[in-house]
Amino acid sequence: MSEEERATKNKLRPATLVTQAGRAPFEHFGFVNPPVYRGSTVLFPTIAALEGLRQPYTYGTKGTPTTRALEQAWSEIAGGADTVLTPSGLAAIGLALLTATHAGAHALIADSAYQPTRNFCEGLLTRFGVTVEYYDPLIGGAIAAMIRPETTAVLVESPGSQSMEVQDIPAIAAAAHAHGACVIADNTWATPLLFPPHERGCDLAVEAGTKYLAGHADLLIGLVSANAKWAKRLRATFNAFGMGSSPDDASLALRGLRTMALRLREQERAALDIAQWLAVRPEVSRVLHPALPTHPGHELWKRDFSGASGVFSVILKDAPQKAVAAFVDGLELFGIGFSWGGYESLVLPFNCAAYRTATRWTSEGPALRFSIGLEDVADLKADLAAGLARLNVS
Ligand SMILES: *Cc1c(COP(=O)(O)O)cnc(C)c1O
Repeated sequence: MSEEERATKNKLRPATLVTQAGRAPFEHFGFVNPPVYRGSTVLFPTIAALEGLRQPYTYGTKGTPTTRALEQAWSEIAGGADTVLTPSGLAAIGLALLTATHAGAHALIADSAYQPTRNFCEGLLTRFGVTVEYYDPLIGGAIAAMIRPETTAVLVESPGSQSMEVQDIPAIAAAAHAHGACVIADNTWATPLLFPPHERGCDLAVEAGTKYLAGHADLLIGLVSANAKWAKRLRATFNAFGMGSSPDDASLALRGLRTMALRLREQERAALDIAQWLAVRPEVSRVLHPALPTHPGHELWKRDFSGASGVFSVILKDAPQKAVAAFVDGLELFGIGFSWGGYESLVLPFNCAAYRTATRWTSEGPALRFSIGLEDVADLKADLAAGLARLNVS
């Protein structure tokens, strides 16, 4: 694509952009979607070509036209200079952290980050000589006081996993950049459609494409996009691993991409409707959804995000374990399981208190995370109402 074409495309609104990005039909005989290129070896016509390594493709681990189509699409959508693909969202987090740290470095991690991110930091990252420190996700610009000369990475995740704290990412990024540290965002909840990570000051942005990009609970994939400053370092770290992604997975993700804006819009509407409905139920103590004006992070969310996805949490009033089990186990339309972002609604009990270290998480009753799928909202409410009736009599 020429610079001019790119500039025109970047003016497209998100719902249009997801249908256009990463496609070049006339490079593939006019077929609308890029084909699945499977391959390890890529042939060179001559020794001179081999030595120059100037072909667009040189070996399977470095990418195929299928994986590159997804990378390019994501770079456009995220507003980044480059994107690499990984076999899962967790692998993308690891790759981003390894891109931005080295032995002797110090990394600041939001206390509300996805729990496996903590495991990666406390295990592998620590073993390789990085000092990991957790910070209060609500710290904002005051994070400046925690930044040391050796701090090279600050990880944000907003809203926080399960507990849904909204972070002041522009303020945190400004403080980190004043010391040259890399700001890594786990942007899985919002996706770049609702929070443009690089425009808001993040250097590296991670997406568990497993969630809203895939959208159908049938694919594991991660993406890391980088701004111009970090793109080369990210690509070099990626190449060091030989972490080539399957072209079949990239193709499935590209299919998900084309409907992602539509699904997100519907899931936002449905989730907000259900969150409001739950918020006034007598069994519910609090609903943690940033689009509700009662949410402590609502103003920041309104300032920095252009919408909400379909994941939120609920704190019930105190209830015995067996009553919660009667509520959740009997739900017919909500699956009990990890991950989210698919067409099927999910529910998961959680307790952040078990692993937080920089802040104290408290909840007055049992906590549940919901991911709203694509079912009819009236059916979901009926299922939840029957569940709350079981809660009350158990
Ligand atoms: C699910 C999730 C991940 C990890 O994605 P996988 O593809 O399941 O490894 C990372 N970050 C967040 C916030 C997630 O919810």
